[in-house]
Amino acid sequence: AAEKPLLRFITCGSVDDGKSTLIGRLLYDAGLAPDDLIEALEKDSKKHGTQGEALDFALLVDGLAAEREQGITIDVAYRYFATEKRKFIVADTPGHEQYTRNMATGASTAELAVLLIDARRGVLSQTRRHAVIVSMLGVRHVALAINKMDLVDYDEATFRRIEAEFRDFARHLRFLSIEAFPLVAKDGDNLVHQSAHMPWREGLPLLAYLESVEVDRGALVQPFRFPVQWVNRPSHDFRGFSGFVCGGNVRRGDIVRILPIGRDTTIARVVGGGGDLDCAVAGQSVTLTLAEEIDVSRGDMLASPASPAKVGDRLKARLLWLVREPLVCNKSYLLKLAARTVPAAVKSVTARVEIETGLAAPLTEEGETLAFNAIGEAEIELDQPIVCDRYIENRETGGFILIDRVTNETVAVGLVTEAEEAAKSAS
Ligand code: GDP
Repeated sequence: AAEKPLLRFITCGSVDDGKSTLIGRLLYDAGLAPDDLIEALEKDSKKHGTQGEALDFALLVDGLAAEREQGITIDVAYRYFATEKRKFIVADTPGHEQYTRNMATGASTAELAVLLIDARRGVLSQTRRHAVIVSMLGVRHVALAINKMDLVDYDEATFRRIEAEFRDFARHLRFLSIEAFPLVAKDGDNLVHQSAHMPWREGLPLLAYLESVEVDRGALVQPFRFPVQWVNRPSHDFRGFSGFVCGGNVRRGDIVRILPIGRDTTIARVVGGGGDLDCAVAGQSVTLTLAEEIDVSRGDMLASPASPAKVGDRLKARLLWLVREPLVCNKSYLLKLAARTVPAAVKSVTARVEIETGLAAPLTEEGETLAFNAIGEAEIELDQPIVCDRYIENRETGGFILIDRVTNETVAVGLVTEAEEAAKSAS
């Protein structure tokens, strides 16, 4: 049987909009929550005094999250579930303003964003900020979850007004689809089942929509990209290169280009967890061997010779600044892209982007850089060339982070818009 298609989505909203309740209730109504968890939940809900009432569905999600967080602090909780029709990976990120970083992490792999809005409060600046960030990170589909409709008397006009306001605001954000849902996450209205309270609502409930929405999984038809994560040499007669296919596919016998050296060679074997494969596609982890003995190291890339990745030590990029300490131009940060980490300095910030509109705006002050939560266009110089793509062509080989060399903190998320080699452009 064919594999079920996968949808990756992210939930975004302010604290208390009902994100945990929504996911918890969705899993529960679809019969997808593990039994022992439901039992624990029933106990917990009783403990919290909601006896005889609905379960507290936020507890269900927090329970899962806590499990995943044991012993290790993770910023983004990924939750997996599957229905008959589709597999899902949900990135759940905390709603506090200072957690933009987590949102960016979750959004960079998502195809769709569920943006939560409290029906009483409508579109807030936080909603606009989330929409701008997910759009910037390449999320092209939005499910606008207008929640707590019970607190506005299930009023259609309120729902329509919020939907219209969001659509108007999002016009220039390049979303391919926006679908709005009037919800009561707490009661499950329009999540798995149509709501009896909102007969005016036409269209699918949220889960059915998530099961059927068509998103472009462009990665499969992209040119082949394989950043080498590590060199695998268990014995003298085996030398393989292990990593993750970040674009396209690869077969035994394919000619590939080794970057940055630019030499072409043939794939001898494609080895997966269970042995040799004919083919591996985007999303798979494999080990590749080459027909010739060539020195390939961690951080190099195997790519399609017909449309190879770029090699560059001068990048133009869009940066989202994540920390309170502002960007310092000419300071040495570490830039990590795919399997490669190199020292890099931002030479200048050339423009900034209004985070609440997504529109470019001029820099207002002499020497202005990027402050907390700001987005800007920057020119970056690397100590050594890296192999990359433009982010709009490949999110995995075109997205990077900047790390502070002293604190080891991730200070920015970056998207490559152009890459070139200084030595080449000078000659
Ligand atoms: P989160 O911070 O976004 O994860 O929000 P929670 O899921 O924890 O929900 C915040 C509060 O809103 C909780 O008290 C929920 O019970 C409540 N809540 C969630 N959805 C609804 C809803 O549709 N209607 C009403 N009235 N309350 C809701």
